[in-house]
Amino acid sequence: MPNDCMAVSLGLPGLEVLHQRSLEGGSLEVTVRYRTRTASCPHCGKPAVIVHATTAQRKKDRRIWDRPLTLILFKRRFRCLRCGKVFTEPDPIFGHRRRSTGRLREHIACRAIGQPASQVARQEGVSASLVRRSFQDAYHHRWDEVRDHPLAAPILSLDEFSRAKRCYETLVYDPLAGNVLGLLPGNGGGPLRAYLEKLPDPDQVRVVTMDMHDPFRQAVQLCLPRARVVVDKFHFLRMAHHAVSQVRVTLQQTGTAPRSTLLFRGRHLLLVAQERFRPADWAKLRVLFRLTPELQIAWELKEELRQWYRSGSWEQARQQIRLWVAKVRRCGLAPFQPLLSTLRDWGEEILNTFHCPVTSGALEGKNNRIKVIKRMAYGYRNPDNLRMRILLTNRTIRAMA
Ligand SMILES: [Zn+2]
Repeated sequence: MPNDCMAVSLGLPGLEVLHQRSLEGGSLEVTVRYRTRTASCPHCGKPAVIVHATTAQRKKDRRIWDRPLTLILFKRRFRCLRCGKVFTEPDPIFGHRRRSTGRLREHIACRAIGQPASQVARQEGVSASLVRRSFQDAYHHRWDEVRDHPLAAPILSLDEFSRAKRCYETLVYDPLAGNVLGLLPGNGGGPLRAYLEKLPDPDQVRVVTMDMHDPFRQAVQLCLPRARVVVDKFHFLRMAHHAVSQVRVTLQQTGTAPRSTLLFRGRHLLLVAQERFRPADWAKLRVLFRLTPELQIAWELKEELRQWYRSGSWEQARQQIRLWVAKVRRCGLAPFQPLLSTLRDWGEEILNTFHCPVTSGALEGKNNRIKVIKRMAYGYRNPDNLRMRILLTNRTIRAMA
């Protein structure tokens, strides 16, 4: 060994290091054998000391100082003096016929919770199938436990998101605790009904928030008759944002060059809440409104709807929304018409917000978590892998009796 080297412990006290070398490209190769001198014969139980043969086996281990590490194990076969049979020594550190250390498999299983197997495989320099197998060995028993025990909470939130093109998943979470409780295939009512029917204490659920998706509402009304359905504020407001944008796009397409450019440049500002305006923003908006009065009406309708969500009581909110509906009818802006039909179909659930406001703090946290989940979703081709990882990382696993 050159005299500028230092030794570090391999961290596997059962092994004796015989030799080590540094390979081109930075990887390390360490030759080892088990410290024990004898092994008991699996046939008669007598300790055997006669080494019959030795074979060298290459095994992958965790990186040391970020350098890939391969262990070369001199594995012995013993001959028993009593019964004369030959047997291979036990291999607790690597496992029977495994070509990696147990600690490497644990390490990659742990990393594979948050990332697709192919990504972990690339980063760790192992095969994707090893990552998948290690993950299964480490977490499958917990997955079974999570999957078969739906959980309830006083407030449940339902959200659908796309895992891939036209492939939807339904997320069930507890917005107060920020926990993901379930992840169901598709966005239809069937899987949700199956989930809700299995809840251990359905009466505990008082409120279910959702977007305006009728299969969800039907499933909740059927399985949780005591729970109140609340349409998530952001989903309804998003429709108003969409309407303002549509009004702008139509004006932009029919206008001449300077007006169209101004409208295009104002596209983000039109959707910003007015409390967050900087002084210059008002001036920009006034220029736009002078050019296109319809846009001013659309913007005001959107802002009034935002203000409406601050109504003091359910009764007040009910009166205010009637006035707002009348105003939308009077102005006749086509992009706002879908909001009127939504109010007809979902008015009760939209107004329920004023009975059970879910605090915005919890919603913020929830939204961040869901963003992470959605980002994760695109890395997984197999939906079961995605569901398993989301539930394992986001759900507190309770001791099930
Ligand atoms: Zn024997």
